[in-house]
Amino acid sequence: MKHRNQVFDNVLDLVGNTPLIKLNKMASKFKGNFYAKVESFNPGQSSKDRIALYIIEEAEKKGILSPGDTIIETTSGNTGFSIAMVSIIKGYDCVLAVSSKSSADKIDMLKTMGAKVYVCPAHVSADDPRSYYQVAKRLHEEMKGSVYINQYFNELNIDAHYKSTGPEIWKQTEGKITHLVACSGTGGTISGTAKYLKEQNPNIKVIGVDAYGSVIKKYHETREFDEKEIYPYRIEGLGKNLIPGATDFDVIDEFVKVTDEDSAHTARLIARTEGMFVGYTSGAATQAILQLGEKGRFKKDDYVVVIYPDHGSRYMSKVYSDKWMSEQGFFDSLNEAAAQNIEYIK
Ligand code: PMP
Repeated sequence: MKHRNQVFDNVLDLVGNTPLIKLNKMASKFKGNFYAKVESFNPGQSSKDRIALYIIEEAEKKGILSPGDTIIETTSGNTGFSIAMVSIIKGYDCVLAVSSKSSADKIDMLKTMGAKVYVCPAHVSADDPRSYYQVAKRLHEEMKGSVYINQYFNELNIDAHYKSTGPEIWKQTEGKITHLVACSGTGGTISGTAKYLKEQNPNIKVIGVDAYGSVIKKYHETREFDEKEIYPYRIEGLGKNLIPGATDFDVIDEFVKVTDEDSAHTARLIARTEGMFVGYTSGAATQAILQLGEKGRFKKDDYVVVIYPDHGSRYMSKVYSDKWMSEQGFFDSLNEAAAQNIEYIK
């Protein structure tokens, strides 16, 4: 393993080995010890660097990919950025089908990283030909020598975290971890990390974080896909309107649902109290801890690890924009005044 004070051959050498950082304020009113695995320290600023590098290198090992080939993916942004980054270093073309829910910043960033981007409507069903799943599938069929990463249904997504995130957390906590809290989108992060950790200690509690408007929590509890659960929500990267094959529901003990509004305020509070500028789903995962803490779920010696998937800079036009917060109706006059904290000298 390389350390940050060494010299690196390229950015890909810096994927993984992210720090575990103590939360000193966010959960201080609860019993227990709380730490964040801060994935924005990856060179592509998110946990998706791990799966992009792992899946592409596995394809190379199997002889499926050779330089000049095209890599295709569906993505809310982070996976696309990571695949684009890996593609640059390794010499592939990168084509991305993204949801129209993704921020303009994210789309600009993907283009900056050399990717060809297709923006697809967010609020259509997964089998609609305009959905980003169907668009990616069609492009894959049309393009010779292309590989479709398909993170939602690719078991290698789970393996990437089983082989990296899980062992890192086990080592960093010296085996003391008692709870893992992680958002579930594809489910790769929580499934792979939990599988490794539970093999070391089956008593570790694994808590998934889901959005209102997503089918995941109900499916975990009933194994029923209930379309009635589906409605639009704002958090990107969390929850789903289908059941992802990259989620291993058996290693997850329970799901907690969080609202767009609570998660947004919590994300902002992390910046102001911990000095960590992290993404919307980091707010969502911390919000789940607050909800569990209010129910008295944590004990003095508990060692809770929460995964912070990405960096706050990706949400400047959304959760970190006062204008956007107001437009969503997330500000009342009280917290609007507190958040603005700005004075114009005329
Ligand atoms: N947070 C963000 C910002 C994401 O982009 C994703 C990935 N969709 C997740 C959380 C969830 O990670 P996973 O897909 O591994 O469940």
